[in-house]
Formats: sequence, C-alpha cells, structure tokens
Amino acid sequence: MKIAVIGTGYVGLVTAAGLAEFGHQVIGTDKIVDKIEKISEGIAPIYEPGLDKLLKKNLGKGNLRFTPALDTTIQSCDVIFVCVGTPQDEEGRADMSQIEEVSRRIAENLDSYKVVVEKSTVPVQTSMWIKRIISRYKKSEASFDMASNPEFLREGSAVADFLSPDRIIIGVETERARELLVKIYEKFRDRLIITNIDTAELIKHASNSFLAMKISYVNLIANICEKTDADVDQVSAGMGLDPRIGSQFLRAGLGYGGSCFPKDIKALAKIGEDLGVDMSLLKEADRINVGRMRVFIDKIKRALWILKDKKIALLGLAFKPETDDIREAASIRIIRELLREGSTLRLYDPQAMNNMKEIFGPDPDRLEYCASAYEAVRGVNALLLITEWEEFRTLDLKKVKGLMANPIIVDGRNIFKPEEVRGLGFEYYSVGRK
Ligand code: NAD
Repeated sequence: MKIAVIGTGYVGLVTAAGLAEFGHQVIGTDKIVDKIEKISEGIAPIYEPGLDKLLKKNLGKGNLRFTPALDTTIQSCDVIFVCVGTPQDEEGRADMSQIEEVSRRIAENLDSYKVVVEKSTVPVQTSMWIKRIISRYKKSEASFDMASNPEFLREGSAVADFLSPDRIIIGVETERARELLVKIYEKFRDRLIITNIDTAELIKHASNSFLAMKISYVNLIANICEKTDADVDQVSAGMGLDPRIGSQFLRAGLGYGGSCFPKDIKALAKIGEDLGVDMSLLKEADRINVGRMRVFIDKIKRALWILKDKKIALLGLAFKPETDDIREAASIRIIRELLREGSTLRLYDPQAMNNMKEIFGPDPDRLEYCASAYEAVRGVNALLLITEWEEFRTLDLKKVKGLMANPIIVDGRNIFKPEEVRGLGFEYYSVGRK
C-alpha cells in the first residue's frame, strides 16, 4: 500500500515519518519547496523532539520520501492523508480553503480508486463537502472513498504520541475504506475506534474544546482565589484527585494558546451555531481565555505601576514548552501590549526566538533578543515568566536577582514557590495564589 501525506507541517511531517516507521511506503508533499528540500535531507523544519532521528531512519530505509510534486504523488498512491492547515477565518470559522484546494487537486488526479483521509482538524460534515468537490471536478470514472482519522498528537511530544497513541479514531462509510485504514493501523487493533465520519470529525473538535474549557474553568477559579485566601494550585490538586475530573489541564496560568485550542473551540462554536445549537458554553470559555492577558497585564501594573520606559524581561515565547511554535502564544499579545504601553523588552526562549523575530523583527531600541535567560534579565525592572520551560525551573535565582535592576517576578505559570522566591528577596506575583 502506498500512502501520500499532503502538507508536511507539525502534523503531516510526523504522520509521514510515523506511517513509514509502521512499515508503509510513504510520500510526503508540501507546496513550500524549501521545506521539502530540507526535510529530504533529514532535517525537520520545526523543533520536535525525536523527529530528525525518525526522519533520517526512514529516509535511509527507503520507505519514506518527500517531493513538491503534488499531482504525481496523488496519482501514485492508494491512500491520501490530508494534513493541510485549517486556520481560523475572520469570523472564527475554520478556513477550509487549503482543504478545498487539495480536494480539487485530488479530483484532477484521481486515476484509480483511492481513499481520501481527513487528518486535519475539520468541522463536522466536512467530508460531505470534500466528496462533492472531488465528484464535481474528477476527470475519470475512478471511484474514491472518504475517511476521517483525526490526529491527537501534542506538539512537544508528537513523535511519541504518534508512535504510541492512546486511541485511533477512524471514521468510514464503506467496508473497503475501513479495511484499508485498519490495515494501516494494524499494530494498534486494540486501540481502534471505528465510527461514521461525522462522529470521527466531531470527536476531535469536542475533545479539544473540552480541554480548552477545563483550562478556562481553572482560570476562573484562579480569579476567585486571587480575591480570597484560597490557593489555586491546591484547589486543582484537590480536584484532580477525583478520577472523574483528573489532574491534567487543570493548571491555572495565562490560558491556552497554540494552533489548535483557540481556533478549534471557536470553530466548534460556529459550526454548532450554524446548525442551530446554542453554543454559549464554549463562547464563554473562549472569552475567559482572551481575558487572561488583561489579568496578567494588570498584575504587571500592580508591580510596576507605570509601564512606560520600564525594562522588562520575558522568559518563554513558545505557546508551551518543548516546541518552537508561537501560533496564538500568550507572549505575542503580551509583547504587543507592553510595547504599546512604552516598555522596553528583553526576550528569551530556548527554541522559539527565530519564529518570534519573524513577527516583531529586530528593533534594538525597544526589543532585544537575548542569548540566555540570564542575559535577558540583565538590568530589568521585572521578569515575566511566560512559558514553563524546564530550564526556567532550575534557574539560579540568586544570580538572577543580582542581574536585575529590581527583583520583581510576575510568574504567569506558577513555576516558582512563593515562599522560596520571597525568601530570596524577590517581590513575587503569581496566578491564583498569595
Ligand atoms: P501547519 O501549518 O504546520 O502545516 C500545514 C502544511 O500544509 C504547511 O506546511 C503548508 O505549506 C501545507 N499546505 C497547505 N496547502 C497546501 C497544498 N495545497 N498543497 C500542499 N501542501 C499544502 O499545520 P499543522 O499544525 O500541521 O496542522 C495541520 C492540521 O492538523 C490542522 O487542521 C490542525 O488543526 C490539525 N492538528 C494540529 C495539531 C498540532 O499540534 N499542530 C494536532 C492535531 C491536529
């Protein structure tokens, strides 16, 4: 069986390398030619632990290759995984233009039976649209089936998640497509959940939106803690021990970011509304998330009063640790707001510096990109902890204090212990705790 993977971003690249690792013949393709050239040399254009190694191994074995040639890739494969982006449009709906473009190309190159698999996160009923587009534009009598196989990998542990998934959702409507998909995931037979396509599509959106709601919920509780003597970390720990609740995604902080939760919760709210369902629950969770930035900026103001001409260090720019991805990262909104207020910023992140430079560019007067956390805190009036990278947990805080102009920490992720940092002489603000 030959498999095509269209779109070699965070999901497509891991999917291509992972399917090759399972023993299949895989061709990955992307419209960005530079990306394909780099990947073909075994170099992942993104930071993802273990990905370079997996790529090199399977490129070397000969069962994985990459090409910018979309048409011939479609023609030569039996199963096509669509992994292109489904970003948010101006109204909050999923922008399906990349999916539509690829669907038309599949139609034009459909020369024999193929299964078209949606791996991208798409609104429920998307497969119906893809099917209509392919049927409308196809030039041959060849038939095809649709399938949905949403991806649950997490950036930062994507390779491990793909190679050892907790469940694999397969949405199909024919026996032929079912057999092919089951064969692809043969080694995970015990973890296969087979449904119809609408259900599979909805499982993904419903899962991401639920996790996003959980984060907003604990952030709401954190707001109550800040007005009382309650400690949100202890509240979360107490709640999380209940197996019906679980401890994951119950950390108060700056809210959710990244390329998935913010857009997926909005997209599900929109598709629900389009279908006539009241989606206020999700809209409220999203509103709480957007409000996290204001809560954080107010804290910085409580610490510094006037932000104009203050020198401030930001530690962590990626939307979460172990990735270079800054899409919808809290850091971006915080940087914009602080620049608007007239502060001077010193930025550091272990992996996301280049991506951030593409957004804000070099601006030596207002914004400096630093080589380390210690370099970033030199001479600053306050340190903001934005992303909980492991290396920040083990910082030598005595050294940090010695480098800062004023020993003030505003910790957006609760990585430090209040009594410890205050014991070292820092003025310390965190989330939902005194
Ligand atoms: P991405 O932007 O990193 O990658 C998308 C890739 O598709 C890009 O490389 C782009 O060049 C390519 N592309 C777009 N149009 C193309 C075309 N016509 N032909 C060939 N290539 C084309 O996006 P991503 O983070 O990999 O996400 C992809 C999908 O997977 C989205 O729907 C996303 O919601 C979903 N998803 C993402 C994650 C995640 O953690 N990033 C996890 C699960 C699901």
